[in-house]
This record gives sequence, structure tokens and C-alpha cells, in this order.
Amino acid sequence: MDPHLHRRVVHAVCSHDCPDSCGVLVTVETRTHATGTSTERAVKIAGDPAHPVTQGFLCAKVAKYLERVYSPDRLLYPMRRRPSAPKGPAAYGGVKGREAEAFERISWDEALQHIADRFRAVANEHGPESILPYSYAGTIGQLGYGSMDRRFFHRLGASQLARTICSEAGGEALKQVYGIKLGTRPQDFVHAGLILAWGANIHGNNVHLWPFIEAARRNGARLVVIDPYRTRTAAAADEFLQIRPGTDTLLALGLMHVLFTEVLEDRDYFSSIAHGADALREHALKPEHSPERVADITGLPAERIVALGRDYGRVLRETGKPAVIRLNYGVQRAEFGGTAVRAISMLPLITGAWRHLGGGLQLSTSGAFPFNTDATQMPELMKASPLRRNARVVNMSRLGEALTTLGANPEDGPPVHALFVYNSNPAAVAPNQNAVLRGLMRPDLFTVVHEQFFTDTTDYADIVLPSATFLETTDVQGAYGHYYAQVSSQAIAPLGEARNNTFVFRSLAQRMGFTEPCFSDSDDDLIEQALRPAESATNKHWFDGISRERLEREGQVELQLPTSAEGHVVPFSAPEWFPRGHAELLPLPVFTPATESRHSPAARKFPLEFLPRKADNFMNSTFANLEGHRKLEPRLGVLELHPEDAQPRAISTGDLVEVFNGRGCLRLHALVDGAVPQGVVAARLSWNKTGDQAANINALTSEAVTDIAAGATFYSNLVEVRKA
Ligand code: SF4
Repeated sequence: MDPHLHRRVVHAVCSHDCPDSCGVLVTVETRTHATGTSTERAVKIAGDPAHPVTQGFLCAKVAKYLERVYSPDRLLYPMRRRPSAPKGPAAYGGVKGREAEAFERISWDEALQHIADRFRAVANEHGPESILPYSYAGTIGQLGYGSMDRRFFHRLGASQLARTICSEAGGEALKQVYGIKLGTRPQDFVHAGLILAWGANIHGNNVHLWPFIEAARRNGARLVVIDPYRTRTAAAADEFLQIRPGTDTLLALGLMHVLFTEVLEDRDYFSSIAHGADALREHALKPEHSPERVADITGLPAERIVALGRDYGRVLRETGKPAVIRLNYGVQRAEFGGTAVRAISMLPLITGAWRHLGGGLQLSTSGAFPFNTDATQMPELMKASPLRRNARVVNMSRLGEALTTLGANPEDGPPVHALFVYNSNPAAVAPNQNAVLRGLMRPDLFTVVHEQFFTDTTDYADIVLPSATFLETTDVQGAYGHYYAQVSSQAIAPLGEARNNTFVFRSLAQRMGFTEPCFSDSDDDLIEQALRPAESATNKHWFDGISRERLEREGQVELQLPTSAEGHVVPFSAPEWFPRGHAELLPLPVFTPATESRHSPAARKFPLEFLPRKADNFMNSTFANLEGHRKLEPRLGVLELHPEDAQPRAISTGDLVEVFNGRGCLRLHALVDGAVPQGVVAARLSWNKTGDQAANINALTSEAVTDIAAGATFYSNLVEVRKA
């Protein structure tokens, strides 16, 4: 035993944008030196075995997290662009690893003062709405995702950001039907007899659900995957239905057609719980929703549609176990993706699967957590801004437009003159990348980026601020794939001069002279505020008995959800679960082909549907810079084609091809196999600068928005491919 070495284990929470929100145990060693000084280092990271969903393991991404924390590439101090360095990768020759050449080190004091001075000048000249925050879920802790930052921008009068890039269409759609974002507990999937993974690559991004699915399969359950792409999950399923992109609404209606035709509905439950039940029955039974018509459009054989509808409707009576759907957000990143989620989410209402433990559907569980975001974000501060009103809203899914054309019409307010990016890497992840990069290149745009690494976005920053990882900060977190609340305790001191989001915006508020006491709230204050639900929150009692002390003591605490007489959590089994007292099926879901799909006139010029996929071993663009993670992704830089699309273009595996449309062009290497259906091509998200062409798949995606909640439509794009 080394008396100079002290070892402790800290409970943290993985803050990455993932439904699993794993409980994480970080082993930290502190060594005391002869001089009396000490050094500390996290030496091990592991899943918390006491967390009922984490079950002691982490995904491949985060199992290697210490490589990220201690990467020699971490940003450790604030920097300012050198006066001689133009924006963009040209400033350092475009060679990854040389980005620092474009910047000079400055102190936090200088950085904060510089930002405050520029914000003041921009606000005075153009109005505060010409300042735009840009953030998403780089961290999903309550403090890191949105707390002091929101207070700061509200008080400043900056434009509000509509955070639509990922899940808004589906989340809103679910709320339209159910009134709240809830779903089946992951642990209860073991009780299901049939599991549909619909647009859900469980192996890739929800891996802690997998053990429950495997347990269900050992008990006789079948796993059916519905996805346009043959994912790892599809390869491991009992059945894979390779649906064409954007046709999910029609498949859902086709399944309903089978359910109603064969009288497989739970009529008592459906009619009493769902407003619009008779209308939906009549609608689904129309000939346009027959299995044959659905087969024509979805590309699935009619007999398999019928068989799935029968299995879905009969599994309960035949096995005593219900069907459950794991729906994930890929489905809703299409032009009519909101409608698709509404339609799919109606299926368990029809069969009454909700009434049985393990049945139902899970898209998100996040609505169950009554965190008091009004208290932590304080939208009322907008009234104290120079605007004296709510600021305009800019949609993050249309950043290219916001940076290049917004403000041309004076009615829309001023152009964006200052941009503050945190928790996000828009130069890589935002749609219509060429427009985004044109905007970021504007010499008159003042851009601040708070980051852990030099990313594609820091290439355009005037000021770069070093950001802390979740090991270096404290937060409180819920989840969108289970019902456990957790406190993430700081395991190690921030490396270098890295600082968390709340530090940055608290400090900036002081520099801006904001005197409201809320800007002095500590992280501890914010955690307390987050955990104290608003009186008006209908589900406020679900936090009963949950305090910071208890979370720290127990690691994770499940919400106090209502239980059945048997003590089970069975969401939507009774009217009390629905905030409106019932489900809402109106307006009826109608299938509409996307403007960019094989059915549209645009397909004459660009006939292939493009799936810009996320890599399984990255978290959107996070981790894409780390060699260890990149090695797990052999299909980077690859365009996947179906043989019937490759052959007429004389394309073979390994050929360099150009994939293009009216928005951009990418050069990739062809891979011709069965991962995509005929008429579809796919490629994976990575960083621009890790390739050889300073662009990625978002050079091809569009800024069109979804039918519900104006979300991004990453999966509604047409392209053409030719040999390079
Ligand atoms: S990314 Fe998801 S699965 Fe991986 S450790 Fe984090 S929460 Fe768990």
C-alpha cells in the first residue's frame, strides 16, 4: 500500500446525448509528493453496477473516455484569432493538428472582456437580437444543457434559439397524441412478447436496452427491426424489414389496416381512451392503406406487412405477453416525420398494449422529469432586457439561412452579427453545410466557441474558450431512456483552464453589468432550483422524496411514477396517465411523400434517396476526432449503394464516386452491398477536417423543416452519384 497514494471512486453521469444516461464510477488517484503538493488523475471509468439500467457497463464510446479527457489535443486555455489569420481552415493550412497556429493564447479575463465589449458594441449598433446563441446537447445535464446560459442570453435580449435539430418533431408529435413524453420502462421490455425496433439502432445508441431485449428473447420474444438501413441491430434481429425512407406513416397505417380488418383491437380500451378512435378505424381501413398499396410505397412485401400486423395484434392473446415498440428519433428526421411518429405511436392504443406490463412504446421518457427549467433558465429575464419583450426565435436547423440571408427583410429583425457556440459543432452537424460555412466565414461575424477540442467550428472562431468534460463538473440529470434521476459529482479538477458552461455565462453576466441576483447563483443553487418542481407542474409529485442529498447517497433514484395495484409502472394504462385524460388521434395521420423523395419531380434530376447516418461509435460529431473511436468505424468516407443502383452507373466497391445535388458535392469510396435498399445511398457523419475535402455529409442535406415543430430533415434528401 503506497501511503502517498489515495484512491477514491466518484459517482458521475454520462452527459452525452444518449437515452441511457449511464451512472458512471470514476476512480481517481491522488498522489501526494514530497514537496507537499499533490496531483490527481482519473485512472478508471466504469458503468455503475448499482444502476438498474447501466448494469455496470458503458458503451464503447465512453468506455474509452479517459482517452478523451486526457487527450493531448484538449483545449486548455482561452485563445484569440491572430489578426493575420483569416477565418477557415486555410489559416493553418487545413491540416488537422495545426489549428493552434491560427490563435494566440489569452487569459480568461481578456477573453471575457473582449466578448463583453463586442456583444455590447454589436447590441448598440444592431440591437441585441443580432446576437445568436447556438447550442444543443453536447451535455444533457440540467446545468450544462441550459441554465445560466439561458439567463444570460435572455437578459441580454439575444435572439432565442429554437433547438430543433434532433428530436423536436418526434417529441412534439408524441405530446400531440399523449400529452406528455413518456414510455415503457426499459427494464420492463423483458416482459414483452414482441419487440419492434422502429428506426432504433439499439446496438449503436441505446445499448443498455439490449440486455432487456435479450432477456425477453430468451423468454420467447421476437425482435423485429424496421429500418431503411441494415444496422447492427437489424443484423441481430429475428426479422428485418428494410423500409424505404420517409414511408413509416404508411406502414403504420398499413399495420392498422390489418389490425382493424382482423378485429385485433382492444376495443374497450381504444374507444374509451382515444379521441378519434372511430375516425382512425375508418381512415385506416381505406383501400389506400391496404397491404398491397403499402407494399408498393414502402418496398416491403405485402405478406410481411400482413404477418407483422397479425403478430402485433395477436401476440398478447397467443403468448400472454404484449408487444412493445422502441421507436427512435431517426424516423422523425424526415419532412413528414412528425406525422410518422404520431401514426406509429397510435398502434399500442389500438391493441391496448399499454395495459400490460412491458407493452406500449418508448420514444422518450424525458417528459417524466419535472425539473424546474423555468427556475433555472428564467425566461422572464427577456422582459428586463433592452427589448422589454421576448426576443425573436431563430431555428437552429436553418443556421445557414440565419447567417447568410436573415435580416435582408427588415421585418425579420437584424442580421446575425455575433454568434456564441457551445455544446455543439454546427460547422459539422448543421444541415446545408455550404451555406453554414459561408455564413461562418463572414469577416463581420464575431464568433465565440466554447469547446473541448479544435473542431470544424473552432476553425471559424474569433475567440475559443476551453470547456470542461463531465468528469470536471457537477450537474443533475434525468434521462430520455429511463426514469432515474442522478447527480453527477465532479471527479477531477478541470484540466488546464477549462471551465464549465455556468462559469462562462455567470462571468459574462458580471462583465455585462447584469446586477440581478440570479447571476450570482452557484451551481449548487441551480441544482436545488432544478430539483424543486414548479407548483403548476402536473407531475411534480414524481420528484417526491428526491433530493440532492438522496441522489448523492444512493447514486440514482427512480421517479415516483404511479403504479398499478400490483405495484407496476404501466404508462398510459388508465386515463390518469394522460394530461388531457385521453389520447388525441386527430388530425388523422395522412401519408405524404417528401418533397425530396423518389416520388417527387426532383427525383428526375437526383434520383437517389440519401441517408446521412450517424456513426455508431461517435455521438453525432463528438468523438470523431479521436483515433481510437475512428478505428471502430470502418465505413467512414464510404458511400453505400445497392447493387441495382451501382450497376447502371458502372460503379464497383472501392471506386471513388461523387455524390451530389444542388447544395453540394462529396467524393467518397463506393461500397456496394445490401446495407441499403434499392434507390437509397448512405454515408456517415464525421468531421470535415478529418477527411480530405473540408466537407461532410451535411454538404448534401437541406434546411427544409419537418411538418411538426420545424425540425431538421436530414433524411429527406435526393442526390445523384457518378464515378469520379
Ligand atoms: S453514451 Fe450512452 S451508453 Fe454510452 S456511456 Fe453515455 S449514456 Fe451510457
